[in-house]
Amino acid sequence: MIKLNENFNKLKKNYLFAEIARRTEEYKAKNPGADVIKLGIGDVTLPLCKSVLDAMHEAVNEMGNAATFKGYGPYEGYEFLRKAISESYLRYGIDINPDEIYVSDGAKSDTANILEIFEADGNVLIPNPTYPVYVDSSILSGRNISYIDANETNNFLPLPDYSVKPGIIYLCSPNNPTGAVYDKNQLKKWVDYALENRAIILFDAAYEAFIEDPELPHSIFEIEGSKDCAIEICSFSKGAGFTGVRCGYVTIPNNLMIDGKSVGGMWLRRQSIKFNGTSYITQRGAAAALSEEGMEQARHNIDYYKGNAKMLSNTLKEMNIWHIGGENSPYIWLKCPNAMNSWEFFDILLNNANIVGTPGSGFGTNGEGFFRLSSFGSREDVEKAIQRIKSLQF
Ligand code: PLP
Repeated sequence: MIKLNENFNKLKKNYLFAEIARRTEEYKAKNPGADVIKLGIGDVTLPLCKSVLDAMHEAVNEMGNAATFKGYGPYEGYEFLRKAISESYLRYGIDINPDEIYVSDGAKSDTANILEIFEADGNVLIPNPTYPVYVDSSILSGRNISYIDANETNNFLPLPDYSVKPGIIYLCSPNNPTGAVYDKNQLKKWVDYALENRAIILFDAAYEAFIEDPELPHSIFEIEGSKDCAIEICSFSKGAGFTGVRCGYVTIPNNLMIDGKSVGGMWLRRQSIKFNGTSYITQRGAAAALSEEGMEQARHNIDYYKGNAKMLSNTLKEMNIWHIGGENSPYIWLKCPNAMNSWEFFDILLNNANIVGTPGSGFGTNGEGFFRLSSFGSREDVEKAIQRIKSLQF
């Protein structure tokens, strides 16, 4: 008799964004005409840059011509994009071959799907709070999860605890939701720990384009030893505004082997079974985003968001509200004033300032008492929000 996957029953009810929407709609219904500003969104808002658009238009034209039409592409992505990604690693002094890169439709699916190539009953180590996909996909696949505490004491950058013996370690830097960024020494500690435990680090670098401090690592592969224990997952979503276009990639060093088997080879096999490639048009757009011109244009958008983040961060500083992030990340993670819990602060912001943010408790128990603001909104909204926040009495 057929049964459902019982692991679904183990998922915590994910009510974060639904509850945000419910409270916001309820407020708007009671206060018609209220100008509610959304500083909670994790989605980009600025349009694609010109180089990307030009490349995609040209690719559309190619698809309309029998001589240049493309059907199914390679599972691992077109050579032109894998070469462009490989060259983009050189900016950080990292040597990655095009054949170590696997193009996909984005980092969300990759961070979840990559678990399939590892033993099903392995232990997964995840920082708390976290991007929820790591937790939910580990639960769905029946894995045991150990959490490592990210908190105010460690600036939300936890370091390894050698008493825990994971097989898989999820790390995200710059972090969603906290905006915290690991430095090279801290990442070296994680690499050493992974090597000692013969574990694999799944390093989510989706926000690397927001790093401006030249000392901070953009990639796990800037760390010695990482090519023997790490897989990197990256995305065009946040850096190039591709959330609605969909393109990401996984980087697996060729020398990463488990029991004599190539991990990259396993991933390619998995992809060839379940994935039929990212569209040619998208991949042309992604390659254009990595051209010098494309990077320059994308930089304007990133600077715009980061300008928003700096203004929000300066306001919180003036108000003596503890926070991190916002400098090398689009997110600001603040401690709710007056020991309020995350949802209490949400209600105060909504009711007294008509601002919607994201309660930290939605990202894990250690997020309770914290709150995420995003800089992906418009400058005009951020300026208005700042005036309103300043008028609040805490
Ligand atoms: N990883 C992190 C940490 C994210 O915050 C997000 C999206 O918000 C993703 C991955 C998903 O990226 P993509 O749009 O490439 O699926």
